[in-house]
Amino acid sequence: MDKVDCVVAGAGVVGLAIARALALQGREVLVLEAAGAIGTGTSSRNSEVIHAGIYYPAGSLKARLCVAGKHRLYDYCEQRHVAHRRCGKLIVATSDAEAAKLTGIQAQAAANGVSDLVRLNASEARAMEPALHCVAALLSPSTGIVDSHALMLAMQGDLENAGGMLALNSPIALVRYKQSAIEIVASDGTELQANVFVNSAGLQAQQLALQIQGLNAQFVPPSYYAKGNYFTLAGRSPFQRLIYPVPEAAGLGVHLTIDLGGQAKFGPDVQWVDSPDDLTVAPARGDVFYAAVRQYWPHLPDDALIPGYAGMRPKIQAPGEPAKDFMIQGPADHGLPGLVNLFGIESPGLTSSLAIADYVVELLQASAQR
Ligand SMILES: Cc1cc2nc3c(=O)[nH]c(=O)nc-3n(C[C@H](O)[C@H](O)[C@H](O)COP(=O)(O)OP(=O)(O)OC[C@H]3O[C@@H](n4cnc5c(N)ncnc54)[C@H](O)[C@@H]3O)c2cc1C
Repeated sequence: MDKVDCVVAGAGVVGLAIARALALQGREVLVLEAAGAIGTGTSSRNSEVIHAGIYYPAGSLKARLCVAGKHRLYDYCEQRHVAHRRCGKLIVATSDAEAAKLTGIQAQAAANGVSDLVRLNASEARAMEPALHCVAALLSPSTGIVDSHALMLAMQGDLENAGGMLALNSPIALVRYKQSAIEIVASDGTELQANVFVNSAGLQAQQLALQIQGLNAQFVPPSYYAKGNYFTLAGRSPFQRLIYPVPEAAGLGVHLTIDLGGQAKFGPDVQWVDSPDDLTVAPARGDVFYAAVRQYWPHLPDDALIPGYAGMRPKIQAPGEPAKDFMIQGPADHGLPGLVNLFGIESPGLTSSLAIADYVVELLQASAQR
C-alpha cells in the first residue's frame, strides 16, 4: 500500500488552505477531491465577501478566525496578486429602533478586535451612497470582496510548488484508523496509508466522518442544510459599497453585494432544505426580496431582480436553534492522533480559510507526532 504523510479530503477553499499550510511546513501532502475540479462546492457558491468579523460572539472560533483570516487574506491577495477590493460596507438602519441597535453592533465588533467601524448619520451615509435611504449607518472600512477562484488557484499553486499533490475525481469512501497508520480507501478501491488525515469535505464532512472506522460517532454532529438564494440586479449597481440591513434574528437580512466586475446581487436568504443538492432558485422568492431591498433602496425598479444562484450552508444546528460555532476537532477532542475533522464551516469560512489552516496545523502539532 502506498504511503503519504498527510491526506486532505476536499479541495474547497478550506481544504486547499490546509493542504497548502501543511506543504509549506515541508510535509508531504495529497489532496483527494471527489469532483473533477477544485472549488466546485460551497466555495464557488458564496458572496465572495471578505468579512470584517463584526457579529460573531467574542472569543468564538468564527470571531477569532475571521478577524485573523481577514488580515491574512488581504496580505495574501497582495502578495499573490489575487483580485480583491477593500470596498467597505454600510450597515444601514431604516428606523429609529434599528438605529439604536447600531451601538450594540459597534460594541460587539470592538470586542472582536474590529475597532474601525464609523457611525454615520443619514446625510453622511447618503453623501457616500446617494441612492441609499437610512436614518443612520455604520461604515465597515475593512470589509471587501475577493475573486474566490483566483484565490483557490493561488493556493493550489503554492501547494504544488511546495511538492504537494492534488487528485481530482477521487472521492474517499472509507477511512480505517489503525494504531500504525490511517488507511484511506477511495471509491475505486485504491488504498493508501497516511500519518495525518484532515476531513475538509464541507457539506459531506459528517457523512465522511461516519466512514472513519475507529472514530466514535458521538463526535460527529448532525447535518442540516440552509440554502441561500441570490437574485441578481439587472443593470448597473447604484452602490459602490456592500449594503447590509441591521441583522434580524434569522440572519443578516437581504443585503447587497457587488462582485469585482461591478455586478450587484441581493441575498443570500435563509431557506432550510432537506437535501444539500437542492440548489434551484425559485423565482417566487424574489417577492420577499423586493420588499426587503426597498427598505434601504426605495427606487429599486420593478422586474429588476433576476433569479441568480444558490449556495448551501453546512449547518450543525437545527432550524430555530441558536447559531453554532465552527467545529474543528483535533486529537485532543476525539483522542485519535493525526486526525482532524471540520464541521459546520459556513460563513465566514472563505474569509477565515488561511487562519483555519494555521489553526489545524497547530492542532496537529500539539498532538503527538505519529
Ligand atoms: C450562501 C453562502 C454565502 C457565503 N458567503 C460567504 C462570504 O461572503 N464570505 C465568507 O467568508 N464565507 C462565505 N460563505 C462560506 C464559505 O463559502 C464556506 O465556508 C467555504 O467555501 C467552505 O469551504 P470548504 O472547503 O469547507 O467546503 P467546500 O467548498 O464545500 O469544499 C468541500 C469539498 O469536499 C469535496 N468532498 C466531499 N466529500 C468528499 C469525499 N468523500 N472525498 C473527497 N472529497 C470530498 C467536495 O467535492 C468539495 O469540493 C458562504 C456560504 C454560503 C453557503
